[in-house]
Amino acid sequence: RAKQQGHNKIYCYEEGADEKIHDLQLLSQDMDRALKNNEFKLFFQPQFSFATGEQVGFEALIRWEHPQRGLISPGDFIPIAEQNGFIIPLSEFALLEACKAAVSWHNPLRVAVNLSPVQIQHIDIVELTEHALQETGLDPARLELEVTESLFINISDGTAEMLQKLQKMGISIALDDFGTGYSGLNYLSNFPFDKLKIDRSFVKDLTHDQGAMAIISAVIGMAKSLDMRITAEGIDNKEVLEILKIAGCHEAQGFLLGKPRDINLVPGVEMETSHTHSGNELNSRHDT
Ligand code: C2E
Ligand code: MG
Ligand code: MG
Ligand code: MG
Repeated sequence: RAKQQGHNKIYCYEEGADEKIHDLQLLSQDMDRALKNNEFKLFFQPQFSFATGEQVGFEALIRWEHPQRGLISPGDFIPIAEQNGFIIPLSEFALLEACKAAVSWHNPLRVAVNLSPVQIQHIDIVELTEHALQETGLDPARLELEVTESLFINISDGTAEMLQKLQKMGISIALDDFGTGYSGLNYLSNFPFDKLKIDRSFVKDLTHDQGAMAIISAVIGMAKSLDMRITAEGIDNKEVLEILKIAGCHEAQGFLLGKPRDINLVPGVEMETSHTHSGNELNSRHDT
């Protein structure tokens, strides 16, 4: 009821907002059906090592292939799913599918799966992950779970313990979108991340923004002294790639090196292609 009133309010202020809200409600009501109808798919974006130029993993990114609307991006439906609770079955699906896919690859690359803070607050992630590993037979060393800073705003006692349990199982934990969510840094010394992913908002401004460069250098220095690895996400041009390599970043991800794709369409062959193309991209940087 409160929600209903909120909606009416927005409706008064913004032109066209009524249509948008109606649209969101339709999407919200459509999710259970869509999951049963296999409309949710994982795309995979490659991740590369700066040191070797080789692909080291994929990040699983969910998509909704809607029969009428076409491809819907997670930025549009994840927030709704977090509000209506659908994030729970959706995330369970994503984790299981990602593990299944990874087992089918001919190279034993790592797979990174995004977790929602809402999911972490409401279900037992350790149990969920154990189940996915058992079900698929994936080596836990090949699984990486990505959490965001927002998880640490309302930190509950169980969170650190949960992350540590996952690490004891051999899974690595990455802090996603670093630098965007939360101004404190305390939690960095209290939580045992294996990796920081520097958000695209810092990465994309690198070539023309001295401030962004200073932040990246500081973050890399800090992460190294805390014994965490660093991935830069959102790399979409060669200049930025070169700067990050010199700055000492460990891993690279971005449209320049490979866009998220449905790699299951052409098993095996597809991965070869992305590897060769992007490996060259990184290696040519090596030689210069
Ligand atoms: P994220 O985890 O930070 O994922 C990276 C996003 O940046 C992806 O958008 C990816 O397509 C995009 N990206 C990567 N490289 C580039 C680049 O060079 N340029 C530009 N412009 N964009 C780039 P996507 O796939 O739309 O995902 C958006 C967000 O949705 C993700 O951000 C993640 O927070 C969330 N998400 C995606 N899949 C899942 C999932 O299975 N579960 C949960 N809980 N969240 C998910
Ligand atoms: Mg991510
Ligand atoms: Mg990210
Ligand atoms: Mg992001």
